[in-house]
Amino acid sequence: MHRLYENEDITVFWDSDRCFHARRCISGAPMVFNFARKPWVDLSKGKNPVIWKTVKLCPSKALDIVYNHGVRGIFDEENRRSLALDGERIVGECDYDDDKVSFTIVHTEVDPAYSDKGIAKRLVFKVAEAAEKRKRKVVPVCSYAEKVLD
Ligand code: SF4
Repeated sequence: MHRLYENEDITVFWDSDRCFHARRCISGAPMVFNFARKPWVDLSKGKNPVIWKTVKLCPSKALDIVYNHGVRGIFDEENRRSLALDGERIVGECDYDDDKVSFTIVHTEVDPAYSDKGIAKRLVFKVAEAAEKRKRKVVPVCSYAEKVLD
């Protein structure tokens, strides 16, 4: 399962397949990370520096974190894509096909001026999360998406 949790400044990723429940996240920020709650991550319950430090303690890398750099991520189901927006400008896009069984991720691209900010990962996770919530399989054809979801 792939999930992302966002506030204005940061995005936290969680890949449940990698999580072996070492619970360091819960020790580090128990108000933010709580497996007894849904959703189990609530970024509003902690300060960003504490969340950052806690995510970095995750031994399995099931958790990851990036700064948003002022870029918003949205899921655009009508056009089968996720988008990264700097203001109204599109600076990244992840496209998929939906055959009602699977979301096949076919292309991920980020404006080179915005590279190395974790934007492509945010875009791929947006699509993967949406697929999983709709009980679709996620099929990454795009090589970047394949790497992210490996
Ligand atoms: S610290 Fe990482 S591996 Fe441990 S429970 Fe939290 S997310 Fe899972």
